[in-house]
Amino acid sequence: QASHLPPNEHRYLDVIGVAKSFKGAAIMDQMNFRVAKGELVSLLGPSGCGKTTLLRIIAGLLQADTGDIVLGGRNLSSLPAHKRNISVVFQNYALFPHLTVAENVAFGLRARGTSKADAARPVADALALVRMDAFADRPVSALSGGQQQRVAVARALVVSPDLLLLDEPFSALDRKLRETMQIELKALLRNRGITAIFVTHDQDEAMGVSDRIAVMNKGKIEQFAEPSTLYAQPASPFVMDFVGLSTRLSGRVTEQAGGIATVTTNVGPVRARSGLAAGTPVLLGVRPELITPDPTAEMNQISVQLDDVMTLGSKTVLHGATTDDDNFLCELSGIRTDYKRGQTVTWGWAVDDTLIHAVPA
Ligand code: ATP
Repeated sequence: QASHLPPNEHRYLDVIGVAKSFKGAAIMDQMNFRVAKGELVSLLGPSGCGKTTLLRIIAGLLQADTGDIVLGGRNLSSLPAHKRNISVVFQNYALFPHLTVAENVAFGLRARGTSKADAARPVADALALVRMDAFADRPVSALSGGQQQRVAVARALVVSPDLLLLDEPFSALDRKLRETMQIELKALLRNRGITAIFVTHDQDEAMGVSDRIAVMNKGKIEQFAEPSTLYAQPASPFVMDFVGLSTRLSGRVTEQAGGIATVTTNVGPVRARSGLAAGTPVLLGVRPELITPDPTAEMNQISVQLDDVMTLGSKTVLHGATTDDDNFLCELSGIRTDYKRGQTVTWGWAVDDTLIHAVPA
């Protein structure tokens, strides 16, 4: 597996050859990647792919079988969690319910031997940062989910960590609050130049909060790139399916000419820019908003019967009928009343907008 370099090749966090097994079953093998100082990175992947395990290894809460964690030039591998200067915000926030907001935030400083008097100023600053200063003397048990999350972030930041790790930090919040907190937290981390790694299985969240995303599958990074790259140039069928929706077609390359592959599918020939040879079984994808119901002659074209028209306000999603694993989605902006279920339409898209991946036969 290639090491994943940030664009500026600036080293800050290096995860080198990390492997972990539980009871003889390998969870991850040879994990390698690099994060630059100040970057916001997400580990994105389905449940069980090893995101939390990796986070715990970086934090020092779990010992890797092999490999090293290097942060700011310091090899952390033999250091216990409390000597790494890494803060973790856990999914359930792990606040102490019997302590006040200020006492919770002070906890990390007090554990490092800071006196109560000396902790007061940084605690007040951290609470102000997350706009919770008015709540300092309340018990955390009296706070809403969003407020508890702010306190957990203040508690993590008050110790000036070299790295902040967040495990599904928004999952306990409802959708509206989650979006607000994502914007707030991202701005806060950016302003303070904090390097952070989010663990999430929610692609919208990862796209929204991250400079780069590591898409994980079964203990491996399938692609580590900026959100726009993952979406426009997914490196594998897994990434294409996990990040965003697409019209999907399976088929086989039947002609190769000058770097254009013609693929035979159930709904006719489709061209893609690819050097794959005739005979190769492939999966094709097209992002739904790149499909037009008014194609030009040079576009790929397919005819589909609409089996659903979903009006979502800012957009309308047309769904085409299929009889197999293929999937037909076309997204149009705004409300479109001119399409009806049962209607047959011709969809088109540019040859260069066709995503193509070889798949096992
Ligand atoms: P989720 O989003 O559900 O939290 P995840 O991607 O964070 O998933 P991990 O929690 O890292 O995944 O788990 C990865 C794999 O390791 C899973 O198959 C899990 O069952 C296994 N696993 C994790 N911790 C242990 C443990 N202490 N003992 C045995 N197996 C474990």
